[in-house]
Amino acid sequence: MRDSANAGSRSKGTAGHQPNEAVAGSKPAGGLYLVATPIGNLDDITLRALKVLKAADLIACEDTRVTGKLLSLLGIGGAALSPYHEHNAERARPALVARLREGAVVALVSDAGTPLVSDPGYRLVRACLEEGLPVTSLPGPSAALTALQLSGLPCDRFLFAGFLPTKDGARRQALAEVAAVPASLLFYESPRRLGDSLAAMAEVLGPRQAAVARELTKLYEEVRRGGLAELAAHYAAEGPPKGEVVVVVGPPPAAAPTGEAELDAALVQALAGASLRDAAAAVAAATGLPKRQVYARAVALVGERGQ
Ligand code: SAM
Repeated sequence: MRDSANAGSRSKGTAGHQPNEAVAGSKPAGGLYLVATPIGNLDDITLRALKVLKAADLIACEDTRVTGKLLSLLGIGGAALSPYHEHNAERARPALVARLREGAVVALVSDAGTPLVSDPGYRLVRACLEEGLPVTSLPGPSAALTALQLSGLPCDRFLFAGFLPTKDGARRQALAEVAAVPASLLFYESPRRLGDSLAAMAEVLGPRQAAVARELTKLYEEVRRGGLAELAAHYAAEGPPKGEVVVVVGPPPAAAPTGEAELDAALVQALAGASLRDAAAAVAAATGLPKRQVYARAVALVGERGQ
């Protein structure tokens, strides 16, 4: 236990305890350590991460080549690496849990940044918690939070939406599902799909402020801010950017046009650039009106206009 205050609060909550790597000069206690690693800038490695990675009996990682390279840049040699990723998680987990049962120090890292964010790490954490095995986190870099900080958009409430589906219909559906959330939205995206995703966001989420954060913490770090339509037009013209990107979208406008005329005007505008379903979802998100009501009005409008 690290301190009595934490020990007290833990005893009231769910079962589980943390391993302890804090005893000076000694090997960390056995357990699962969730270790954040840099998202680009090697200097972002933490002292705690170095200590645990050096001492780990086993480092579970998404790609042994990527982590092997990182460890060699950090001057850590000879660590035993074990792949744990989306495609082998079910098969690999029992062996990792068995090592933890024996008291091994197991570090879990992702290719970059904070493990568990968009990887199968949480299922390993669950397996440990179910068996009462010690788990702790060594926090550090995260592309999502770094992008949010630099976006200039509200940070008091945000929804991390991960990667959008790659197919257009599913992507629009996923966007419609989060359109009404009164918070900033964070998306991971591949540079290749960035233009299409921004165009879909502009149509489904409506006119909102956004930011594309690229190559965070690296030499060519860049944050492009603007309206969704403006950003979509920029990347349509310029083509896919180089490097990795996170998209941050501001929350829907709080002001709601509740009058019938304002609702119709908002729907007519949205219908000009989106399908009936997407337009209704975007207007419902922007106005805060019930989706069903907005959809029904959109259907009526389309009927009246003979579309
Ligand atoms: N675990 C990581 C974290 O803590 O942010 C994220 C891993 S996720 C599988 C990889 C995605 O994170 C990339 O596709 C990109 O969207 C984003 N990403 C990672 N590094 C980045 C960087 N340096 N700049 C911008 N985006 C980054």
